[in-house]
Amino acid sequence: LVSRENKRENTVVRVGDCRIGAGAPAVIAGPCAVEDEEMLVKLACRLKRMGVHILRGGAYKPRTSPYSFQGLGKDGLRILADAGRVAGLPVITELTDVRHLPEVCRYADIIQIGSRNMQNFELLKEVGRVNFPVLLKRGLSATLEEWLLAAEYILAEGNREVILCERGIRGFETYTRNTFDINAVAAVKYLSHLPLVADPSHGTGRRELVLPVARAALAAGADGLMLEVHPNPENALSDGPQSLRPEELAVFMQDLQGAACRC
Ligand code: PEP
Ligand code: MN
Repeated sequence: LVSRENKRENTVVRVGDCRIGAGAPAVIAGPCAVEDEEMLVKLACRLKRMGVHILRGGAYKPRTSPYSFQGLGKDGLRILADAGRVAGLPVITELTDVRHLPEVCRYADIIQIGSRNMQNFELLKEVGRVNFPVLLKRGLSATLEEWLLAAEYILAEGNREVILCERGIRGFETYTRNTFDINAVAAVKYLSHLPLVADPSHGTGRRELVLPVARAALAAGADGLMLEVHPNPENALSDGPQSLRPEELAVFMQDLQGAACRC
């Protein structure tokens, strides 16, 4: 079902006013995790003014260490939904457990399945049964076939609103957090009709590399970007080193809008 042989025309996933896969790049941005209501509302309004289309923010955080910040849970979902409503932006958040599906569907506009759950097949089947857009991140060291078959699990249950997200894979390099796989962007667009967004924040793990790699991903055919942004990255509760400052994103958004006009 995910294959381009089965369906030649691109799938377009609609979220609010945004059509992902329709041509103009969709930009999803926000902090790694929801931390504080006032900060998120302020940031969301600023992102909206820049031209960002969708607000991100994790409420259930799958952290490597059990002693790291785990997210605000249900309070985080409520804060994210409020910030999105105030700013006029749809919101995306990660679902880590089937027990949270009803509350995530209540507060979010897109369900994110994170890398660590790409092959959580019961979770995939459950999100396949809801009428809700799903963003499926590539697993930490998943092959393209494994990733596309994970998406197949969702489509096979009836949900066709799937967006794929390349977020880098684990390699031998340690300078970067992951190795962003530019080949995967071009290959997935060739193999599948599903829209694809690139996440150079997790793909590089380093703020100074995020925007150059974002541009490369768009050049390779990505339908959009997922970018972590934080007003004060030094004090972020997760992923500060890879979070853009709002002013850095603002400059990039201006460039992007200029480029879109010229096309
Ligand atoms: C995230 O988007 O914050 C996240 C945890 O991403 P990934 O699943 O790609 O590691
Ligand atoms: Mn993160």
